[in-house]
Amino acid sequence: MRRPIIAGNWKLNKTIPEAIELVNGLKRNLYKIENVDTIVCPPFTALSSIAEIILSSNIKLGAQDLFWEEKGAFTGEVSGPMLKDAGCSFVIIGHSERRQYFAETNETVNKKLKAALKAGLTPIVCVGEKLAERESGKTFDVVKDHVVSGFKEIGDADARKCIIAYEPVWAIGTGKTATPEQAQEVHEFIRNLFSKLYSSQTASLIRIQYGGSVTPENIAALMAKPDLDGALVGGASLKPDSFSELIKKTSEVKAK
Ligand code: PEP
Repeated sequence: MRRPIIAGNWKLNKTIPEAIELVNGLKRNLYKIENVDTIVCPPFTALSSIAEIILSSNIKLGAQDLFWEEKGAFTGEVSGPMLKDAGCSFVIIGHSERRQYFAETNETVNKKLKAALKAGLTPIVCVGEKLAERESGKTFDVVKDHVVSGFKEIGDADARKCIIAYEPVWAIGTGKTATPEQAQEVHEFIRNLFSKLYSSQTASLIRIQYGGSVTPENIAALMAKPDLDGALVGGASLKPDSFSELIKKTSEVKAK
């Protein structure tokens, strides 16, 4: 049985005091949750402050991006070993906003994926189609390309360590969620793809999150689907009550 995993992507939000307040609220609300992995991904500036606060909790820390080189003349970048040093155990790679605004490609995703694994971080690899791609029937082609190119030269043992986040771009921050059926269809496709690329065991172990306007109101129906193993959450992760609520609902649905 795959353990559900919910990650909050705070994006470009929260000063250090605001981040501390949010995570303290989560600690208070979530200390009883035992069957869901809860990850927070604050901006780089708040990582080490949050790392200290969550030491004695069931919350884990992730970063929103990393660079593939470990060190050197790369102004403004942050490497895998630096994220480990700051207390991270997870890192988001290839988020659609990185692809859209910062020219990330499947090739850079692949380099970052290798760097994250080398640093001992668990990558959360984002894949997903744009609206025009869905409307022209290209969803599976795009998702396949993101997975196949992103995982180029990644071995079976490493692939198993990764989390996939299926995030249809048209659903991110738009309030327009994929229906549970639409999400399940793509998650099943991704799992089958891992079976072909690796093995049926890897496919059955790999956790696939859904992302795109997840809220406390729609999470239960999404998590009831067999191939949805959690969520990557933007907007609803910025308030302790909404993020806690959707983790509690996931805990209930997946305990059944
Ligand atoms: C995201 O940023 O990955 C995301 C899914 O955002 P939102 O939940 O706000 O749609």
